[in-house]
Amino acid sequence: MKLKFLGAARTVTGSFFVVETGRTWFAVDCGMFQGSKEVRERNYQDFLVNPEQVDFLILTHAHIDHSGLVPKFCKHGFKGPIYCTEPTVELASIMLPDSGHIQEMEVERKNRKLTRSGKPTLEPIYTVEDAERCLNQFRAVNYDEIVQPAEQIQLRFRDAGHILGSAFVELWVTEPEGTIKVVFTGDIGNYNQPIIKDPSVIENADYLIMESTYGNRLHQSNLRRADMLRDVINYTMAKGGNLIIPSFAVERTQDLLYDLTTLYHKGELRTDIPIYIDSPLAIAATEIFRKSMACWDDETCQMHSSGANPFELPNLRFSRTAQESTRLNEITGRTIIISASGMCDAGRIKHHLKNNLWRPEATILFVGYQAQGTLGRRILDGEKLVRIHGEEVVVKADIREIDGYSAHADRAGLINWLKTFARFPRNIFLVHGEDPALSSLAEAIKEEFHVQPRIPSWMDEVELQPCALPAAVPQAPSLAIPEALLAEQLYLETRLRMNQMFQEYWAKGEYQKIIDCLKQVPAIYQA
Ligand SMILES: [Zn+2]
Ligand SMILES: [Zn+2]
Repeated sequence: MKLKFLGAARTVTGSFFVVETGRTWFAVDCGMFQGSKEVRERNYQDFLVNPEQVDFLILTHAHIDHSGLVPKFCKHGFKGPIYCTEPTVELASIMLPDSGHIQEMEVERKNRKLTRSGKPTLEPIYTVEDAERCLNQFRAVNYDEIVQPAEQIQLRFRDAGHILGSAFVELWVTEPEGTIKVVFTGDIGNYNQPIIKDPSVIENADYLIMESTYGNRLHQSNLRRADMLRDVINYTMAKGGNLIIPSFAVERTQDLLYDLTTLYHKGELRTDIPIYIDSPLAIAATEIFRKSMACWDDETCQMHSSGANPFELPNLRFSRTAQESTRLNEITGRTIIISASGMCDAGRIKHHLKNNLWRPEATILFVGYQAQGTLGRRILDGEKLVRIHGEEVVVKADIREIDGYSAHADRAGLINWLKTFARFPRNIFLVHGEDPALSSLAEAIKEEFHVQPRIPSWMDEVELQPCALPAAVPQAPSLAIPEALLAEQLYLETRLRMNQMFQEYWAKGEYQKIIDCLKQVPAIYQA
């Protein structure tokens, strides 16, 4: 059987992997390319495989870089079922039409320019209607359930702990020479994330296709991020300004709500500070999170059974309509506004930035990845004058960042997850990453496990062979996850790094720095 890397190869976005067995063709993910203009151009080109020839499609999760070209795939002739988890179906049913709307708007703007210059106009990649139509092909599959999408092929989703509904895909493909087990990770989440469960243990794989986004980075510990959020809130409210948080609509906004609710129930959040969620997509996604209780982790279930709803606060308000959003422009201080897009290049957040960036008493808090070239990146990099809606705005607000909100495992998280394999994967392909991250993770894996991962390029094709020991098709759900063990390990590593910092400052006599550090990390300070 053959595996083709048609996206997310030596880049982060556009996940698209096609498998061709003797009698079946299928694809894992069908994501949109995002980022530089050159990469985005691929969204407009023909697929590198004929969609009519593909029998079924599997989605790891609803993020647009994994699902964003599904409406185009269907529009171009794909007629088969699309397998994913139930929350992925639900999230895709709001995210894909929203993406269709963005495509329509973008082309409308481009076409106005093209018409003025007398050039032929463009068609959107797909429309809201195309997106709504493709939803009929979605088929929900439970986590841990083995299904047979085609003869000789078995499929099982395992929780990937990345966003609601995210899954590792385990596939057993039986060919005349034997059974091959292939595992696609999609995106791998963090341990100890709020709301969703930790990444599952995968027992074995002949071939592992693994994400590498943060293969060269270590995140701040997510154990202390709620405390940091509280500090930024208190600081901004003491200054008398607004706290503006650019946030991704799905998962990030709900993680923030979870932390705000936790602070509220600990008595650490004032209820006279209004909190607005100003993004229709974020509001719809929060509704899906609220009802997907089967996917919640133990802490979230406990919180709920003790009478606290993780997405409900007395001072929380949702602004759905454009008028409600415009009204927020009149608020000059002591209010928290969470709005999208997360990287500030579109949507309602631009209005809030225009109204607050020039105010020294305001704070802009970044909680997500800011790609090169975006307005968010420029602000975070310290630009003092930015253009928003054709107007120059001076940056006088405080600019802060908390990176403990990442939904991706960092280098230590990825290595720790690999350690949970009972039998180590025989072959690893690193995808969904850019160069320093890919090569650095490959090196770390080689050093730790003595297996040299391969880094495929876009359009590479490899032949997959059965391994000497046949991969057994499991009949029952797997063993329990050593979650506590892994959490403890990560926690100790963080504390070790803090200790190193402490020693360094102590040696130089920089005592104030130590106090400042410890003040920010009460979870570590009290341990
Ligand atoms: Zn993702
Ligand atoms: Zn991704």
